[in-house]
Amino acid sequence: MATTRIKPYLFVIVGGTGDLARRKLLPAFYRLLTEGNAAGRGRVLGVARQELDDDGYRALMVDALADAGLDHDLEEWCRTHLFYHRLPDATPKGYAALAARIEQLEEQEDLPGNRVFYLSIPPEVFDDTVHGFGAAGLNRSDGWTRLVVEKPFGSDLESARRLNALLHEHFDESQIYRIDHYLGKETVQNLLAFRFANPIFEHVWNRDRVERVEIVVAEELGVEGRAGYYEGAGALRDMIQNHLTQLMTLVAMEVPARFDAAAIRFEKTKVLSAIEPIATGDVIFGQYGEGTIDGEKVPSYRQEQGVRSNSATETFAAVKLQIANWRWQGVPFILRTGKRLPRRLSQIAVVFRRPPIALFERMHCEEVHPNVLLITIQPDEGFSLGFEVKVPGEGYVLRKQHLHFRYDESFGRLPEAYETLLLDIITGDQTLFVHAEEAEKSWELYTPLLDRRIAVKQYPAGTWGPESADELLHLDEGDYMLPAIAEAELANGDDEDAKEQ
Ligand code: NAD
Repeated sequence: MATTRIKPYLFVIVGGTGDLARRKLLPAFYRLLTEGNAAGRGRVLGVARQELDDDGYRALMVDALADAGLDHDLEEWCRTHLFYHRLPDATPKGYAALAARIEQLEEQEDLPGNRVFYLSIPPEVFDDTVHGFGAAGLNRSDGWTRLVVEKPFGSDLESARRLNALLHEHFDESQIYRIDHYLGKETVQNLLAFRFANPIFEHVWNRDRVERVEIVVAEELGVEGRAGYYEGAGALRDMIQNHLTQLMTLVAMEVPARFDAAAIRFEKTKVLSAIEPIATGDVIFGQYGEGTIDGEKVPSYRQEQGVRSNSATETFAAVKLQIANWRWQGVPFILRTGKRLPRRLSQIAVVFRRPPIALFERMHCEEVHPNVLLITIQPDEGFSLGFEVKVPGEGYVLRKQHLHFRYDESFGRLPEAYETLLLDIITGDQTLFVHAEEAEKSWELYTPLLDRRIAVKQYPAGTWGPESADELLHLDEGDYMLPAIAEAELANGDDEDAKEQ
């Protein structure tokens, strides 16, 4: 959207001294306001518990921006753009004082009353904050007012419904931006361009041609000091219910009637409504034990600080979904995610059906592999399409080769997900944000699993999870790895070879 159309605004980060604000939000905002001036004229008001003044806040944020690798004119930029307000408690007086400070700042900085409230606060203080904003009249202004809500969005269906009811008591759905930062990643957005601007793929995107779809989000890291939150959450709540399910809806959705937020969210919600209840046998939970990552010994999950010694929290989850609609009936969608896996990888693999007749097998050549379209979200963002070629020489020896597209080779640095999302919030585009109904439908699907006491199997850190996760796919011998993982290993091997040359 053109910068000239963005009216000046105030961007209020509630929780402005926290980890998310320092590591993600401020650096994203700095880039948007400096590089190409994409975000128009904005000012940031950090709001938090700490005793600080404007200059104290600016000093903290200069450090945060430097830590994020930014180095140009930081002091001057912070002096011009950043302000701070202390909210000492959740009393009506506290919110009224915040409202007064906002009005004073808008006058001082000549801002017309366009406001973003980014709630970057712990979930426990969420209710008080939203009620406090409503009571102080901060849900309306002379311009537009938008409210941004971070994950986690509830911990089950009931809490998600309660949260939606709370938000709707004070704000309209058109004002609410529920963040799933995976949707801000360029590769994820490009999925829509890939599918709907390239009809050659749309014709094979269905049960006739696709054998299965696999979505993997693997982390090398363990719980990293977040045990307090993670112990009560686990991989199903933390990753599957939101990020992986969102990716799945984008792969599976129908062509929207228009390319706008309402039409796209409508199609995503239809996919969620069509998923069959998940059978217990289609779920695998795991928890990492001791192991080795990158040659270094790492402790088990239960040995991590803040984790109970008998914890049954899953650090790995794999789920098989069946979408009961015309396009996907019978095609399994496998979502899997885990901590302390061999490496960081987020990838979607669309595995196409093998040739209907085993022509080449009859000629005593090796097995024919399926065509696989890999969409890599991180790292090495891009696409790869695997297909069979004949190895030169006698006989028919087939080998898999790849057509590659890598973002960094064509476009250089990609914007961070938060840059994309902040810009969309400022321009009022809700396409990449989760609608109330989507959030509830997703919880409707996974909440029954939370009560089922699914066995949590151990896996050594540095492996791809419990072995039984492969059984979920009923993979043939020799085909034991997910295509996503197998191809990533292959690509890694290629890189290593290239380095050696
Ligand atoms: P944090 O604990 O580092 O920071 C919390 C901030 O909220 C602090 O600035 C604190 O002063 C402020 N705060 C606490 N109570 C407040 C209140 N009642 N009113 C105003 N300010 C208050 O937390 P964080 O890691 O920055 O996470 C913030 C939110 O973002 C959480 O909901 C978290 O789940 C979510 N989130 C964080 C990350 C991340 O990478 N840190 C990623 C995704 C989602």
